[in-house]
Amino acid sequence: MGWEFSTEPEFQEKLNWIDAFVRDEVEPIDLLWGGKAFHPLDDTLRKIVDPLKQEVHDRGLWACHLGPELGGQGFGQVKLSLMNEILGRSGWAPIVFGTQAPDTGNAEIIAHYGTEEQKERYLQPLLNGEVFSCYSMTEPQAGSDPQQFTCRAERDGDEWIINGWKFFSSNARTASFLIVMVVTNPDVSIYQGASMFLVPTDTPGVIMERHIGLGGERPDEGMHALIHYDNVRVPADALLGGEGQAFAIAQTRLGGGRVHHAMRTVATCQRALDLMCERVLSRETQGSVLAKKQFIQGDIADSYAELMQFRLFVLYTAWEIDQFKDYRRTRKNIAAIKALTPKVVHDGVWRSMHAHGALGVSNEMPFAGMWMSAPIMSVVDGPTEVHKVTVAREVLKDYRPAEGLWPTAHLPAQRELAEKRLAAWIEHTVGNA
Ligand SMILES: Cc1cc2nc3c(=O)[nH]c(=O)nc-3n(C[C@H](O)[C@H](O)[C@H](O)COP(=O)(O)OP(=O)(O)OC[C@H]3O[C@@H](n4cnc5c(N)ncnc54)[C@H](O)[C@@H]3O)c2cc1C
Repeated sequence: MGWEFSTEPEFQEKLNWIDAFVRDEVEPIDLLWGGKAFHPLDDTLRKIVDPLKQEVHDRGLWACHLGPELGGQGFGQVKLSLMNEILGRSGWAPIVFGTQAPDTGNAEIIAHYGTEEQKERYLQPLLNGEVFSCYSMTEPQAGSDPQQFTCRAERDGDEWIINGWKFFSSNARTASFLIVMVVTNPDVSIYQGASMFLVPTDTPGVIMERHIGLGGERPDEGMHALIHYDNVRVPADALLGGEGQAFAIAQTRLGGGRVHHAMRTVATCQRALDLMCERVLSRETQGSVLAKKQFIQGDIADSYAELMQFRLFVLYTAWEIDQFKDYRRTRKNIAAIKALTPKVVHDGVWRSMHAHGALGVSNEMPFAGMWMSAPIMSVVDGPTEVHKVTVAREVLKDYRPAEGLWPTAHLPAQRELAEKRLAAWIEHTVGNA
């Protein structure tokens, strides 16, 4: 039997340490400096955060998404998922552990496709946690349909000149470099005609028009840039991977990242359930604690069951990635968990928030931030609909149309077939009756 749902004791010990460390050392930073995670450390924060990063290093838990050749542990996706389930409770924890998106995915693709010079210049500082990076793909007029991308790079001698606009480029504000996806050959499909470039943020012509915020953030808090690439000149060796390879590269970056997003969502849902259970055991109304009301019990059962289903599906997908070592073979399940993520967090957070009544919708509980992750998760890395289309396409690959007019399960035809198969036996039984 190959089914196994337990965690090796040595790794469980690491998880226990991470759990306590995040709760005791990192979550307090979230409470006091919540919106500052992607900003360069000021003197106060450096004194607090640097020793924590050092402790993570000393424990061998820094940047665990990377293989040993890059200073990580080569843990694989199941272990990373279990770690992300803890780190997902906190905005600062991924920074303290060197696993923050989009830097993780960006580091992965530079490690995979970068030249030695690119690795030294961009990857090493990223791995050391010295700089932030940005992945700049979405455009103002097109996100989920790359065929409408127009941001263009044209060759000019030993240089490329980039012109166009990018939208929602996360962390561009504090990033030291951008990975920009642009059209390099408009005469072929975008999937063969797009390339990626490494562009230092201070390159002349990189104009940050504004930094867009999420939900209720103040205008000056925004971290998602609208960028005008205005005659941005980069040398030929700024190309990442080969010309026309952008989509192949992008696929490498998103597979693991989606699993980690999903596991961080498990953390959010578990927190919502924990808060709900505590509240319904504490709050009395109309003669009993809320926990005695059947509507509430139904909500607890739904939240628990949905969370367990989702968690196991995410871990199973992580396991598949570890087994196959080929994101294409597990594309169906990666897309399926991506499509499920916003719904699970939407329903789980809603029930918990609602069980807290007015307090739940107030700014004295953490639900508003948790709640925003539902609409965010439904568009970030592509909208739910697009992932559902992928799931359906992959599922349908295992099926064929029925031959003839009737479905293969059409009962009259099935019965006829069964009678034919069993004709000899029926004749024998009837003959001997
Ligand atoms: C928090 C956050 C961070 C982000 N960070 C980055 C980043 O760092 N870099 C980057 O490049 N981008 C980033 N994005 C952008 C993200 O990748 C896009 O939002 C996403 O690809 C969707 O594109 P869009 O917003 O243009 O929506 P659109 O493509 O305009 O889609 C809008 C809606 O149309 C519907 N729709 C779209 N396609 C279909 C379809 N095939 N069938 C049915 N309905 C459909 C869906 O309801 C969808 O939500 C980020 C987004 C968010 C929210």
